[in-house]
Amino acid sequence: MRISSNFDSGNIVVIKASAPNDIQLRIQKDHQSDFYQWFHFKLESTAFVSHRLTITDLKNSAYPDGWKNYQAVASYDRQEWFRVETEFDGDNLVIQHTPEYEHIYFAYFAPYSYERHLDLLAWAQTSVNCQQVFLGETLDGRDMSLLVVGEPEEGKKAIWVTARQHPGETMAEWFVEGFLERLLDLNDGLARQLLDKAVFYVVPNMNPDGSVRGHLRTNAVGANLNREWATPSLESSPEVFYVMQKMRETGVDLFLDAHGDEALAYNFVAGCEGNPNYSPRLQTLEDTFKTSLQMATPEFQDTFGYAKDKPGEANPTVATHAVGQQFDCLAFTLEMPFKDNIELPDTAYGWSPLRSKQLGEDVLIAMRSVIDMLR
Ligand SMILES: [Zn+2]
Repeated sequence: MRISSNFDSGNIVVIKASAPNDIQLRIQKDHQSDFYQWFHFKLESTAFVSHRLTITDLKNSAYPDGWKNYQAVASYDRQEWFRVETEFDGDNLVIQHTPEYEHIYFAYFAPYSYERHLDLLAWAQTSVNCQQVFLGETLDGRDMSLLVVGEPEEGKKAIWVTARQHPGETMAEWFVEGFLERLLDLNDGLARQLLDKAVFYVVPNMNPDGSVRGHLRTNAVGANLNREWATPSLESSPEVFYVMQKMRETGVDLFLDAHGDEALAYNFVAGCEGNPNYSPRLQTLEDTFKTSLQMATPEFQDTFGYAKDKPGEANPTVATHAVGQQFDCLAFTLEMPFKDNIELPDTAYGWSPLRSKQLGEDVLIAMRSVIDMLR
């Protein structure tokens, strides 16, 4: 029996792996940080034998509530990620599974590999409507890449979409993949109309270093990028520094920052009601967007989510608040579940890459509902 994680976004520490019914594991912390929650590893063992894998010491993980009613994902072919029987006792996550093949992968959520990220960028640039732009280098020397979709022209709105500031929230990049597939579809009337009115600036992965390193929440030097937007620096958060620099060049009329939430089993958005500049205009934009997305898909709702900030009490280091304030624009954090949408549960797959992609397509409908009101 062998457990390995020395691959793209791998993360596990083996405590004990001598008997199939008593495999003991723990999760490695993000480098220079105390966050840990993301896991991704391969088990090589005997097929058709019951295995019991225990991931220990989770009461100190980043989001202990994330493990309640959570089912881990597994895959034989690294394409299809299905849910497996999982229980949590307050500190230990126990995965009970009888693999059908000798090699099986387990993960916190369906991984989105760095290779797939590069494939997405390469595919997108072959569209007549899309250009790939290099913004700068990460601390590990990877490219910070921006996709510009549409022809910049006087009077067009600037719509920014970012994803995976928190690298373990892979659903955010699946979401962007679906978003781009619809936006770049030359036969899609909605996409064509939006591109007549707006230019889209899309960062599919805000944190490539953390992604490859198998982090949940931080970059190569332990910075939580979604707390860096007040004072980004080339030393600790070049990813944010370069994106903000480009935003100042293009302006921002709508900003959507895609994330995954460990605990809540819903899709929801968090807005800018706590910003100093929040206004009836911004509230109307928020309400119109949310109503439209609810009409477009039952995967989205506006009842459950984060507690609303009191006026003037928004955290200015968070991307949505910083961008919403600086550009006086509609700005949302979009959260998808690691678990499932409890209102439309799917026991086989839970919340999944395909559903994330579909939400990415559907969000264009909500963007259309506000496009003429943005300025
Ligand atoms: Zn996040």
